[in-house]
Amino acid sequence: MQHRPFGSSGVLVPVVGEGTWNMEQDTRAEAIRAIRRGLDLGITHVDTAEMYGSGSVEQLVAEAIAGRRGDVFLVSKVLPNNASRSGTLAACERTLARLKTDYLDCYLLHWPGEHPLEETIRAFEELERAGKIRSFGVSNFDARELEEAVRIAGTGRIACNQVLYHLEERSVEHEVLPACKRLGAPLVAYSPLGSGNFPSSSSHAGRALAAIAEKHGASPRQIALAFLMRDQATFVIPKASRVEHVEDNAKASSVTLDANDIAAIDAAFPRPRRRSGVPML
Ligand code: NAP
Repeated sequence: MQHRPFGSSGVLVPVVGEGTWNMEQDTRAEAIRAIRRGLDLGITHVDTAEMYGSGSVEQLVAEAIAGRRGDVFLVSKVLPNNASRSGTLAACERTLARLKTDYLDCYLLHWPGEHPLEETIRAFEELERAGKIRSFGVSNFDARELEEAVRIAGTGRIACNQVLYHLEERSVEHEVLPACKRLGAPLVAYSPLGSGNFPSSSSHAGRALAAIAEKHGASPRQIALAFLMRDQATFVIPKASRVEHVEDNAKASSVTLDANDIAAIDAAFPRPRRRSGVPML
């Protein structure tokens, strides 16, 4: 598994992580097996949130990582309506209890909300001083919102911006990815496989992807993930609750696309016209 520095902290994090959204709907034992298999394969960045299954996914993650906490780069997120100063502190305590751990590797604001960002960031700083989180970041922030977060927290203090990014939704490449790079906050691509809507192999674009996959002896999903990770400032967190999917995704880390592959993907999945803001699921 390939690793990259996660922002200015220099902590090395695997390029392929594991998402957990909607895992409460999967067969629990299978999902736990999948997360554990991922850890064996170096997929140690595990992304969850208090929102997922109203806390039940954090409990599932706790079971999956039991006895292996030290191997995991564990990320969770506070809901915007909990993200006042005191609300963030309390939400973090609940998250830590559900995850059966005494710290998070990174704690994110799930999306910008009604509470002043200063309050959320002051709470993150307090949690960091108390050793309850090791870093903090944001999610679903557009370029201007990310600049504001960096202004409040200080340069190099926002660990990442987790945003929607997949082959058929590349608008973050216009403003958000450049802002992430300029501000030293890596882009973590969520729903990198289209959240269940992966390009069909019978479509024109899907056939282009399949041809590149065949050339590399890889799967189309591995090619899609490798494309999203072609920039050194990006990470991907596909959600997979089946062992065979985790095994497939782990191999994406060793696929290197050449200029012809990238041009072919660009042609098959063109960037949308330039627009500001950030797409959200
Ligand atoms: P995704 O990762 O794009 O797609 C997940 C779907 O792809 C699942 O149905 C999964 O099936 C399937 N899959 C995964 N690997 C596969 C493979 N190798 N072959 C075939 N199918 C495969 O969708 P997502 O869950 O929306 O996004 C990923 C993660 O990003 C989430 O789980 C969550 O942690 C995070 N996220 C964050 C936000 C945010 O606002 N910050 C929003 C959305 C998502 P199985 O489960 O059956 O294996």
